[in-house]
Amino acid sequence: MIKRTAQTTWTKPAGGPVTGKPIARPNRTAEVQAYFPEFVRGLAVSMRHFFKNTKEMMLGQKPDPVLESLEEGVTTICYPEERRPYPERFRGIHRLTLRDDGSPRCVACLCCSTACPAQCISIEAAEYPPGDSKRGYERYPKTFVIDELRCIFCGFCVEACPCDAIRMDTGIHAVPYDSRDQFIYRKDLLMEFSGRDGSRKSANPRHEPGDPTHPGLSRDHMEH
Ligand code: SF4
Ligand code: SF4
Repeated sequence: MIKRTAQTTWTKPAGGPVTGKPIARPNRTAEVQAYFPEFVRGLAVSMRHFFKNTKEMMLGQKPDPVLESLEEGVTTICYPEERRPYPERFRGIHRLTLRDDGSPRCVACLCCSTACPAQCISIEAAEYPPGDSKRGYERYPKTFVIDELRCIFCGFCVEACPCDAIRMDTGIHAVPYDSRDQFIYRKDLLMEFSGRDGSRKSANPRHEPGDPTHPGLSRDHMEH
């Protein structure tokens, strides 16, 4: 049986008795406890400013903010009927650029989804079918999905893409849909969008596989 001593790990070291430091309680009078005097004081301050501003506006010493907003030349617009032109570098919703044959330029390298800090890009890669000139050189996205509601429009995906396959130059801002599913943009929709110049292709000068000017390995090098 453990014999309890005067000094165990559960007691203070030997010394004088523990003394607390007294803290003076605030003297809360009935006036301090009640809200009413402060309420009256706040109302008095508001009314003083109200009458002072009204008097100065009526004497013409101060512009009336209501009338001022109705004067001509004030820079307000009737959104959404009128819209300001977006700046050239505005990041609109994404699009996937196309090759000359209408196929996606994306090679499903997953660089964009890896760079995406919001993890809102999902890609499933696939091989081109036998006989296709691109088979063996590169893959294509069987599915390519972007959750536009999760996207923070940072543009990292565009920066990361080595093929100029994804862009944010549509000039379109996200549409306020009423269902969560409508913010899931899939490959076919992303390939439908065009850039501000109306083009859906990429001006990327990258040579295509099978092209005689293609700088990569030819199929002759496949055999040893
Ligand atoms: S813009 Fe940013 S958050 Fe949106 S998909 Fe691209 S990398 Fe992700
Ligand atoms: S869009 Fe670009 S970065 Fe993303 S998977 Fe396709 S080729 Fe790679």
